[in-house]
Amino acid sequence: MVTINENYLKLKSSYLFSEVAKRVESFRTAHPDRDIIRLGIGDATRALPAVCVEAFHKATDEMANDATFHGYGDEQGYGFLKEKVAQWDYRARGADISADEIFISDGAKCDTGNFQELFSAAAKIAIPDPVYPVYIDSNVMAGRTGAFENGRYPGIYYLDSTAKNSFVPELPSERVDVIYLCFPNNPTGATITKQQLGRWVDWAHANKALILYDAAYVAFIRDDSLPQSIYEISGARDVAVEFRSYSKTAGFTGTRCAYTVVPKTCVAYDSSGRPQSLHAMWNRRHTTKFNGVCYMVQRAAEAIYTPEGQRQIRNINDSYLDNARHIVSTLSELGYDCVGGKDSPYIWLDAGMDSWKFFDLLLDKAGVVCTPGAGFGRCGEGFVRISAFNRRDNVERALDRIRGALRRA
Ligand SMILES: *Cc1c(COP(=O)(O)O)cnc(C)c1O
Repeated sequence: MVTINENYLKLKSSYLFSEVAKRVESFRTAHPDRDIIRLGIGDATRALPAVCVEAFHKATDEMANDATFHGYGDEQGYGFLKEKVAQWDYRARGADISADEIFISDGAKCDTGNFQELFSAAAKIAIPDPVYPVYIDSNVMAGRTGAFENGRYPGIYYLDSTAKNSFVPELPSERVDVIYLCFPNNPTGATITKQQLGRWVDWAHANKALILYDAAYVAFIRDDSLPQSIYEISGARDVAVEFRSYSKTAGFTGTRCAYTVVPKTCVAYDSSGRPQSLHAMWNRRHTTKFNGVCYMVQRAAEAIYTPEGQRQIRNINDSYLDNARHIVSTLSELGYDCVGGKDSPYIWLDAGMDSWKFFDLLLDKAGVVCTPGAGFGRCGEGFVRISAFNRRDNVERALDRIRGALRRA
């Protein structure tokens, strides 16, 4: 008899976005004439940058010819892309990262979900609340938690992100081994300063802990004093792994390309306390379970690393940031408190009521879909996430309706 991994039974049954979809669908059925604008799910809406499309076409033509055809490539990615990443994303910002420390993959979701395989079942995990659900669910599946109760999993150390700490969690007050951090943050849109991030790096050193740093939204940082990479912090090479993706950087959500940086100096410990190379372990895992990203996709990703490529992605992302600015100013005008929307495409709105109730209100009164904060964790209750990923005219129409619906008497 085949038996299952019972840890899967511990997973919260209702996934946030399926519940959102269910409520939107029943609203649509009840009001077939009402127009719905989605400011919910974080997905790019603008076309791929022209430089990427051009590189894609060119690479596709190479595949059409025996002489220039590409079969299996290195599982870790092509040298042409890894060299550009090391140069443009790291060394240009003073971060000491080399091409062979970069692992190209088909998504930061997979990488952030899979990386926990390298740690023991007993590893104590610290996870922000609210959070991108992948970090938690992958650890639940691996058996590092008890059963979900009162909105939380026993066994996880939660890093509360609240208005009180300006949505940057405080350092752990007890021993933890692995710490997930994400800045600019999904869902709150909060950013972290170099000084704040430096305290985390120092803590990880002092406690032989490891930071898993998700920088998926780095392309939205406009304040140049903010760190774009954790490796801009001295000492981070020994205690941090960084995840990045072309999904939000260059509209690759449907194209699929990302990378993980595992410095060769980064270690975790075996049961006798001997340091082991995480680079060697991730290399082993990646080459065993992954067979590389499509050649054309890697060529398309490479195309952003020219002055013209950088200009194009900046223009596209500026248009989302412009939406975000409009959303923030309208909500502030209406008397709501919010964070994010600056150096981030997400706005975290203090709803002043239960977050699903606010979701229903906004849908009913304005025909606008947001994402209830409670779905991202206990600390998200009372908040909603509004996404700036949309066309400008849709955002303008949504804001007009929100003004009508939420104006406080
Ligand atoms: C969108 C997103 C990613 C990127 O995921 P991909 O699989 O690369 O598309 C990673 N982390 C967070 C927090 C995200 O919101």
